Amino acid sequence: MKRAMFLLVLLGTGAISASVGRAQPDPAAIAIQKVAANLYVVTGGRGSGGQSNTISGCTTVFVTSTGVVLVDTKLPGFGKAILAQVKTVTDKPVTTIINTHTHGDHTGNDDKFGTSVEIVAQENTKTNMAKMDAFKGDKAVFLPKRTFKDTLTIGSGSERIDLYYFGAGHTNGDAMVYFPALRVLQTGDLFARKDAPRIDRANGGSGVAYPQTLSKAVATVKNVDIVVPGHSPLAKWSDLQEYQRYTTDLLNEVQTARRAGKNADAAAASISLADKYKGYTSEGLKLAVQAIYDELDSPRTR
Ligand SMILES: [Zn+2]
Repeated sequence: MKRAMFLLVLLGTGAISASVGRAQPDPAAIAIQKVAANLYVVTGGRGSGGQSNTISGCTTVFVTSTGVVLVDTKLPGFGKAILAQVKTVTDKPVTTIINTHTHGDHTGNDDKFGTSVEIVAQENTKTNMAKMDAFKGDKAVFLPKRTFKDTLTIGSGSERIDLYYFGAGHTNGDAMVYFPALRVLQTGDLFARKDAPRIDRANGGSGVAYPQTLSKAVATVKNVDIVVPGHSPLAKWSDLQEYQRYTTDLLNEVQTARRAGKNADAAAASISLADKYKGYTSEGLKLAVQAIYDELDSPRTR
């Protein structure tokens, strides 16, 4: 049994080990990690072909008395691998999927857990998902049936889950998922990693609203010990607070550079937030600065 599952995991992750360096942990491997009593995070899941530079989003596994709640389902092709990991911690079926947002590295296997699974997302995310090829035609049955605008509570007592929408940021439908009994908050890609945010303007994302959206999150959600980011290892509440400050500084620096007459490339070259924010990288900086410039040049009418 164990060997079969191990094989499944190997098959699920594909032929990626060749490209991965020596002693480093394989970033593409799917692995499950216990976060709290009945909550686990499945990390990893590198894309193939054109997506080989993409590692799937974190998938949370919340085991309740009635079934398993998954938050996000990685890139297409990892459905069996996710299920194999779930089976290592419970025999209960997957009954609910929460999508933090529309992107394919978070919704890629929504269709792999059966049609009786309840799929939940913020209402703008449902609209965004309906535009994806992955949810057209026969696959439209896997669009979220349960949606919310600002908040939604699922379950009760120790199994309670609170969903929040705080405004535009990474997209216009980013849900934060809070497990109050466990003091765990999953941020989706509103806080993906310690780097400049990816701002998906085609799906309503906003670098101008970003700091305010995170500020609402930080002011609203109470009693968080562990943060599950979109694409990086477990973090602390203070890391989310710091990320709010980072996005504020980023926006301010972009506005200052723009007022000084710099173009987006020159602005990106002049901004060095990684010096101020320890442990941060700047891989997404150029794209983020460009997205903020584009937004300032042609603000969306609300
Ligand atoms: Zn995303």
